[in-house]
Amino acid sequence: MDIVFDPVTIVEVGPRDGLQNEPKTIKLDEKVRLINLLSTSGLKQIEVGSFVNPKMVPQMADSGLVFSKITRRPGISYSALVPNLNGYEQAKKCSPDAIAIFCSASESFSKANLNASIDESFMRISQFISLAKKDDILVRGYVSCVTDCPFEGPVPASNVAKVVAKLREFNCYEISLGDTLGKGSPGAVDKMIDNVLNEVSVEVLAGHFHDTSGLALENIQVSLERGIRVFDTAVGGLGGCPFAPGAPGNVATELVLKYVQGKGFKTGVNMEIIMQAAKLARDIRHV
Ligand SMILES: [Zn+2]
Repeated sequence: MDIVFDPVTIVEVGPRDGLQNEPKTIKLDEKVRLINLLSTSGLKQIEVGSFVNPKMVPQMADSGLVFSKITRRPGISYSALVPNLNGYEQAKKCSPDAIAIFCSASESFSKANLNASIDESFMRISQFISLAKKDDILVRGYVSCVTDCPFEGPVPASNVAKVVAKLREFNCYEISLGDTLGKGSPGAVDKMIDNVLNEVSVEVLAGHFHDTSGLALENIQVSLERGIRVFDTAVGGLGGCPFAPGAPGNVATELVLKYVQGKGFKTGVNMEIIMQAAKLARDIRHV
């Protein structure tokens, strides 16, 4: 499918990146209800779930069922996070419009999160990336730890640029730069983007900021100034950071919408529906 891009495009990652960090098990029909509501808001990209090892991320174990039960609207790309060939084969049964692949800019985080070095994680991806092309499934890339790593501290911007270049080789239509810890300062984010722009053009980049330290909007501002026009957000700010209990998770969709709309950017997303979805997101995580 062709994804339509608005002047600022919001990629809703709450049902995956948000919910996967929620400690309480969220019921299947609640996930479906949330995604169906989000689908009526004008969003054009929604990450529905992931096909990672359910022992590692039990909250995502029913992603296949979520895919089968949601009402898919034309014009929306519904994506699934895929770590390896096995995950790809499971995801393919759900006919996602896109898959999201991920790697880390930090060697230690790669080993802890993927049990693989960065190079080994690329080997894994190469085992299924050609299949996605053959199956006509778009590929989106994530880089985690673009400014800070929980084990190594600050991550050199040149590392991020190298990993981004590799993801581009994998034909990712978009590469999302993830401040996984939500620790990146606007200065560090700016320097990181500057390095990344040596490898790819700004049109393929997205910003993915967690609001753990309350810096997400400032980092979005820096990204906007650099020309980035796509941002990953989670409705209701779903998902905490596992390293900082009680801290906010992904930057909230409603917060980013208000921010970019206030700056005069059109998003094609209906704020009222997002506010309803934010309430629903809060309800299902607390009930
Ligand atoms: Zn994230």
